[in-house]
Amino acid sequence: MAELTAEAFRRQVGLFATGVCVITVQDNRQVLGMTANAFTSLSLDPLLVLVAFARDAHTLAAVARSGAYAVNLLSREQENLSRHFAGRAKSPPEVHFEPFAGGPRLVGSLATIGCEVETMVPAGDHQLVIGRVVALTPPPPPGERPLVFWRGAYWRLPAGDAGPAPALEGEQIFFD
Ligand SMILES: Cc1cc2nc3c(=O)[nH]c(=O)nc-3n(C[C@H](O)[C@H](O)[C@H](O)COP(=O)(O)OP(=O)(O)OC[C@H]3O[C@@H](n4cnc5c(N)ncnc54)[C@H](O)[C@@H]3O)c2cc1C
Repeated sequence: MAELTAEAFRRQVGLFATGVCVITVQDNRQVLGMTANAFTSLSLDPLLVLVAFARDAHTLAAVARSGAYAVNLLSREQENLSRHFAGRAKSPPEVHFEPFAGGPRLVGSLATIGCEVETMVPAGDHQLVIGRVVALTPPPPPGERPLVFWRGAYWRLPAGDAGPAPALEGEQIFFD
């Protein structure tokens, strides 16, 4: 058995590969964004999604105030935006938003899911936000690829036509 520590837990759950998204919210006249991978679809009837926010995230407070938000699924080209919206970019990239139902759409994302808050559930040091889906963008072109996060690193699926990706290219970053 491995030891039951936060670090061992983090390493183990990091073996579960995820996409990366940026949660955006219109907070009065300001837009706020936050990188997240604790996102999952939850229900088809009704259409529900779930995001786990750290309790001290500024974006969580804004989502609670506004009652709506958007989930922007990042493309393989948007690693710099993932770093930026996690507060880890060396220099700020250009960021563009456009109006969308739920919250602002991060331009260049693979897809955007507009949501209205259905319910919020405390869970340990996080808050689960369950959202009712109110809008979807049209499907992206078939050659588009998502940004992947696995074992604390970003992985870029090779661009190309539809079909299984033959290999992964990745750059290790530390996720502390
Ligand atoms: C791969 C990955 C996955 C993560 N998953 C999660 C997760 O699931 N849940 C979670 O709670 N945390 C997650 N985090 C951590 C989270 O992204 C950071 O802790 C983040 O800084 C918390 O955001 P905040 O809402 O407090 O926003 P802040 O720290 O206030 O903002 C984050 C950054 O976004 C920039 N920013 C915000 N709004 C704008 C705007 N309108 N225009 C331009 N820049 C803007 C800020 O300048 C800042 O650099 C993840 C981090 C990474 C790298």
